Amino acid sequence: MKVLAVGGGGREHAIVKALVRGGADVCSVMKNKNPGIARASRDFLLARETDVDKVVQYALSQKAELAVIGPESPLEVGLVDELTQKGIRCVGPTRSAARIETSKSFARGLLSKYRVPGNIRFASFTDLREAERHLRSINYEVAVKPIGLTGGKGVKVQGEHLADSADVLAYVREVFEKGIGGAGVVLEERIEGEEFTLQAFCDGKHVVPMPLVQDHKRAFEGDKGPNTGGMGSYSSEDHLLPFVNSSEMEEAVDSMRRTVQALASEGAPYRGILYGQFMLTKEGPRIIEFNARFGDPEAMNVLPLLESDFVEVCAGIASGDVSRKSCEFKRAATVCKYVVPEGYGIEPKANVPIKVDEEGVQRAGAELFYAAVNEEEGRILTSTSRAVAVVGIDVSIDSAERQCERALRFVSGEHIYVRHDIGKHENIQRKVERMRALRK
Ligand code: AMP
Repeated sequence: MKVLAVGGGGREHAIVKALVRGGADVCSVMKNKNPGIARASRDFLLARETDVDKVVQYALSQKAELAVIGPESPLEVGLVDELTQKGIRCVGPTRSAARIETSKSFARGLLSKYRVPGNIRFASFTDLREAERHLRSINYEVAVKPIGLTGGKGVKVQGEHLADSADVLAYVREVFEKGIGGAGVVLEERIEGEEFTLQAFCDGKHVVPMPLVQDHKRAFEGDKGPNTGGMGSYSSEDHLLPFVNSSEMEEAVDSMRRTVQALASEGAPYRGILYGQFMLTKEGPRIIEFNARFGDPEAMNVLPLLESDFVEVCAGIASGDVSRKSCEFKRAATVCKYVVPEGYGIEPKANVPIKVDEEGVQRAGAELFYAAVNEEEGRILTSTSRAVAVVGIDVSIDSAERQCERALRFVSGEHIYVRHDIGKHENIQRKVERMRALRK
């Protein structure tokens, strides 16, 4: 099958690899020349993924039958609507269904209207004065969320990034004054617990869950420093997490199922990958946010484990026909660590060369995914974002972590940084203990 893949990051490299493994004839659109995607694709176009006309023309010229959209920004500008109109089936929601990610006020409002379990107290504001009045009237701590897309970096939490209520007020003013994320904020109650990611294949009606993953957003070891796009992630061989049991996972799946039903009731059936960010609190899983696509890095944990044919899964999503039976995952654990340019998250050093010995990584038994790098005259240069991800895959988290570290020795450069604590036993044990204490 001829498949168009959109996006040039690590997530999209994982998508393209899985499509090729399923026998697809892949053509890609990306803004940077990701060497992994470029090599795996029969053809590629370097262009902005949000340039809808260009992407649609390219898809038609390549006679694509199916399109898989990696990032959120093309969803927001209606790429799926246009491709569908031209007869190309899509894995990715329409502009209207993508509001589950692109508008935080829409998402919370929908959950509230349909009484989806796992929602939390919130209020949305497009007027600064009203937001200020609301802040004076409540007696709980909040998370401040710009309503629109901010590349995962606009959310600030009281008691973490914002010291006190004066800081909260100052940030809310800044969001309005600078128009961060469009303008307007959602103010949510701050909840406490451990976060996890649940991704699911959705065909408009059915929701088929993938193994749970835990990402690490903070830039530095010990979960310190600013929030980033994600520094790395792990998953467990039982497809749960060391601090999440199967009934808690089922509660999260139920929240996702009800969200997909709610979208269908609103006339916006959701076809694509739905990503749920949950916080496991002492009362159970609560919804932090939904994304309208695979997570990056989380795609790199789950896609290498998919035993079913990804091309068939994608065709099922697009035609309303996915089932749990047709989406089997290998019983193995994964640990993914991103190699990033030094200073990533604050002041990253761009355009530094890195050396990647792909065979060495392969010999170590791990997988490698290229992200926001550029290939120029045979050299691989970093950008200001994440460069290369290495994923260890083995029988347990511990052994997958060791494999990942062995493989990381085959990626070198003078100005690179890795969070080595991701997937390490002590780090995970701390989370298990924290959750145990919270449940008491
Ligand atoms: P988001 O972009 O919505 O995923 O938020 C980024 C990060 O902020 C999350 O990964 C959480 O760590 C934190 N966060 C978001 N919402 C809340 C909340 N209501 N309570 C506590 N922390 C939150």
